[in-house]
Amino acid sequence: MTRIAIVGGGISGLAAAFALEEHRRNGAAVEYTLFESSSRLGGVLRTEYIDGCVVEAGPDSFVTEKPWAADLARSLGLGDQLIGSNDVDRKTYILTRGRLVEMPDGLMFMVPTKILPTGLSQLFSWKTKLRMTQELFHPPRAVDHDESVAAFVERHYGAEMVDRLADPLLSGVYGGEAANLSVRAVLPRFAEMERTHGSLGRAMLAARKKMSQGPKKPAPPLFTSLRNGMQHLAETVVARLTPARLLTNAPVQAVQREAGSWIVSAGMQSDQFDSVIIALPAPAASQVLRMVSAELSAELAAIQYSSSITVGLGYDRDVHHSLPPGFGFLVPRSEGKRLLAATFVHNKFPHRAPEDRALLRCFFAGSNAENVWPLTDDQIVGIVRNELQQIIGLSAAPLFARVYKWKSAMAQYGVGHLDRLDRIERVRQQLPGLALAGNAYRGIGVPDCVRSGRDAANQLAQP
Ligand SMILES: Cc1cc2nc3c(=O)[nH]c(=O)nc-3n(C[C@H](O)[C@H](O)[C@H](O)COP(=O)(O)OP(=O)(O)OC[C@H]3O[C@@H](n4cnc5c(N)ncnc54)[C@H](O)[C@@H]3O)c2cc1C
Repeated sequence: MTRIAIVGGGISGLAAAFALEEHRRNGAAVEYTLFESSSRLGGVLRTEYIDGCVVEAGPDSFVTEKPWAADLARSLGLGDQLIGSNDVDRKTYILTRGRLVEMPDGLMFMVPTKILPTGLSQLFSWKTKLRMTQELFHPPRAVDHDESVAAFVERHYGAEMVDRLADPLLSGVYGGEAANLSVRAVLPRFAEMERTHGSLGRAMLAARKKMSQGPKKPAPPLFTSLRNGMQHLAETVVARLTPARLLTNAPVQAVQREAGSWIVSAGMQSDQFDSVIIALPAPAASQVLRMVSAELSAELAAIQYSSSITVGLGYDRDVHHSLPPGFGFLVPRSEGKRLLAATFVHNKFPHRAPEDRALLRCFFAGSNAENVWPLTDDQIVGIVRNELQQIIGLSAAPLFARVYKWKSAMAQYGVGHLDRLDRIERVRQQLPGLALAGNAYRGIGVPDCVRSGRDAANQLAQP
């Protein structure tokens, strides 16, 4: 019997446990024990039900293009619970000199693919629009080093594009700044487009042309979620696992390697395993692995994490009707606000709020999250209300407000991240029976975390 320890009970660790459970049910001689430091499983997947609304404390959905979370949901029998974002109402606004300006149609991240809407948009100055036209003539370019997303975007479209789009869009995903994120790790497709086409605009148009020549399929919704919230995914995984193999309130202090086995120490207990999956954010993984390899621990500690705060606010019918249409807005740093973004959840996922309710999800990230962190929940709600009044003129008192703080939960893939992953992998290969999963490595979103947990389990269950 192969005994496998899983350290961490977020969606990465749960996906690993589910894959091992499937191997076990299919007759493989494996057993697992999952260690989770807190009293609940699911990690940052947390949903509350308030006043008929489905309020997401952590992730609210995932990109449909990455299939692994939806595949997991389907294999759990939750296929009929998957819901798509309401893309007919998809509009995102960018706060621009104090006013909300709609993102023009045809922008693929920050690459314009439709000339007219971009040309007419008030989001960009004439200087940036000129840069967009010039960008179409960039020759293919082989860049032999990594660089920041900000440097890359600035090279193509200028600094205004970094401020208005690249930075706020990426802060919403990684909580960090475009100036600190690696283009190769965060936007690999764009780096490749530059290599093959030079111009991102031309590359995107060529990709579109190719797609339009294939069989026509209706575009899937951009985002997918679960009708009853993301926590439902974690809960359903847990319901499929062997309860006695799930240890909560069991913080692992250290993992050690002894005579070909792995010793996992949690509280006063130590147990011996054949293999171990570390499904933790990198700072925690670095701590737990410090006695296994100083080099591995140092590489993990060097992966930066940022904190974030989400605030869920419920409003009545009048507010529902007074809010702008669309999915919500983003706030560039240069606007001098503390909020980074707000989602109009009742528009993005109408199933998440009764018809007579408006549900907003507001988001602080990075240094702004750190700055408001010490404040009380009431004070944080006060800041949110003040900024919502300034940005969308919303002065009504919410029917409910909830603040959720996530300390160091979002990985920042800094410049050189992929080289670091190569070094981590080289050390890991010298440690048979060790697998790493989670958001520190090759994708921060829920689908990538699910994939990483599943792959870690498969790697150890089928050596
Ligand atoms: C506010 C927020 C919004 C997000 N929004 C989205 C989104 O909309 N879409 C999307 O795809 N992704 C989103 N993400 C990212 C995504 O949700 C996470 O990257 C992913 O869920 C991380 O899962 P995980 O299991 O790797 O880590 P976690 O969920 O952090 O789980 C790690 C677990 O390990 C436990 N632990 C820590 N130390 C120890 C120890 N020593 N011993 C035992 N257990 C330990 C923790 O208690 C925790 O339960 C968001 C993240 C945040 C924070």
